[in-house]
Amino acid sequence: MQAGAFGLSSDPVGTPTVEKVDTDATPQIEFGGYEEAEAGGIDLSKAEVIVSAGRGVGKPENLAIIEHLAKALKGEYGASRPVVDSEWVDHSRQVGTTGQTVSPKLYVACGISGAIQHLAGMKKSEFVVAINTDKDAPIGEVSDVLVVADLKEFVPILTEKIQSI
Ligand SMILES: Cc1cc2nc3c(=O)[nH]c(=O)nc-3n(C[C@H](O)[C@H](O)[C@H](O)COP(=O)(O)OP(=O)(O)OC[C@H]3O[C@@H](n4cnc5c(N)ncnc54)[C@H](O)[C@@H]3O)c2cc1C
Repeated sequence: MQAGAFGLSSDPVGTPTVEKVDTDATPQIEFGGYEEAEAGGIDLSKAEVIVSAGRGVGKPENLAIIEHLAKALKGEYGASRPVVDSEWVDHSRQVGTTGQTVSPKLYVACGISGAIQHLAGMKKSEFVVAINTDKDAPIGEVSDVLVVADLKEFVPILTEKIQSI
């Protein structure tokens, strides 16, 4: 179970029983060794606010727009896999099945279509705002607010408004 897969708000319920199951399966896997993961990176599962960049950012220079909004909201920035695969953002910030599972109070998806592998990593977020030029993007189905706009125009204006509060 990945860290952050469940929100902290749900109280534990029920009294599960632990059952021991004996199998006679012959091990097919040989233990090859253990390597410590490299130190560093960021633990997004603890962030209360995450602003994520998707392929819709267009080019690495535009990531500053996302980082500025994350900073204004006192949160962290994340990314979808194409942005990480392009090496614009470190893998430790990837949200999704092959990245981190997060459950922040606020998740802002900028230029992210809402592929199932991305949704799996952020669908437990309490409140989701999506900014997308496509009003039919699947991310709209899991969003509380869908802003149909070009992120390059909308996000800087939003950041400025937040900074002025
Ligand atoms: C085994 C496997 C594991 C995977 N694991 C992950 C994972 O962990 N995390 C992950 O994210 N993906 C993962 N993927 C990839 C996933 O399937 C999608 O390809 C990926 O999530 C798409 O990223 P995206 O939404 O950023 O890009 P796209 O799907 O290309 O979407 C870009 C969006 O940006 C919008 N847009 C374009 N320009 C603008 C603009 N100027 N302003 C606003 N919006 C704009 C478009 O309308 C579109 O909706 C995995 C795939 C596989 C097969």
